Amino acid sequence: METLVIIGTGPAGLTAALYAARAQLEPLVLAGSVPGGQLTQTTEVENYPGFPEGIQGFDLMEALQRQAERFGARLQNAIVTAVDFKPGGPQRLTLSDDSTLETKAVIIATGARPRWLGLPSEDALRNKGVSSCATCDGAFFRGVPIVVVGGGDSALEEALFLTRFGSKVMVVHRRDALRASKVMIQRAEENPKIEFIWNSVVTDVLDVTQDKVTGVVLKDVKTGAESRRECGAVFVAIGHIPNTEPFESQVQTEGGYIVLPDPGRSQTSVEGVFAAGDCADHVYRQAVTAAGMGCRAAIDAERWLIQKGL
Ligand code: NAP
Repeated sequence: METLVIIGTGPAGLTAALYAARAQLEPLVLAGSVPGGQLTQTTEVENYPGFPEGIQGFDLMEALQRQAERFGARLQNAIVTAVDFKPGGPQRLTLSDDSTLETKAVIIATGARPRWLGLPSEDALRNKGVSSCATCDGAFFRGVPIVVVGGGDSALEEALFLTRFGSKVMVVHRRDALRASKVMIQRAEENPKIEFIWNSVVTDVLDVTQDKVTGVVLKDVKTGAESRRECGAVFVAIGHIPNTEPFESQVQTEGGYIVLPDPGRSQTSVEGVFAAGDCADHVYRQAVTAAGMGCRAAIDAERWLIQKGL
């Protein structure tokens, strides 16, 4: 029987691991399908406190993992496929290799994953010019026009990064106002390689018959008019979906996000099961807020284990 299992190795999971390890709980940390979480798929992180010159997302997560391991956190490559939660525990987890784990307490820190447009052509051309990660795939598209879909910080961050490679970057947004922060908007507006296409949605990605991206079909949502734009790649940056499917029948969720009923606490609707980071936060979704939630969950779990004499 484990004392504490932490599910996820993004900023929330690894910060929880660091605190729990320092509290001598020897947490078992399950890496999940994207070890290191979303930050490993980004470039420079400029807003994590303590790094005035910025830090690469991958380097930040690697350092955080080493820091947690230094104090005794044990990392295991495993994906949780199902859970059987009981108020007060023990909690049972089923892993992708069909093995099971029992633990006194759990912290769910499974983060979120990119949202896709849901077009058959987008699906067919995924990794053949359609991507959700400019850092991973941007360099493949040198000297060609690139389309980015979305109007939030992610879309503008991807667009700005992609100007290094593309001949131009077209940001397609379904409204005529951006959701992104002012600093990102200013940078994007000042970049001569970025063109905004307002009030438009991508209705098709071309060309499935050629097995590569050659362009997009756009629809103006105000007039209904259709048009085509040539491009060599499409980056979709329209937000995220919380990775909570294995838990949805076991803890209270809302819109897929895990509900933390007691404000300021990390306890879920099941006693002994805690949550932290993007899987339980649809508001802030920042690396630093995820890390803060991870810290909070580890402290809550530690206090709960002591209080229960576990
Ligand atoms: P987001 O803020 O939720 O923005 C998603 C964007 O995609 C919105 O503009 C939305 O349009 C659009 N969208 C959603 N569904 C769509 C669909 N089906 N078709 C077309 N467009 C669609 O997501 P995000 O940009 O990933 O950012 C998430 C959080 O991370 C935010 O808090 C953000 O500030 C933060 N973040 C920060 C940084 C940074 O500071 N450098 C970088 C990345 C992310 P509407 O605007 O019309 O809803």
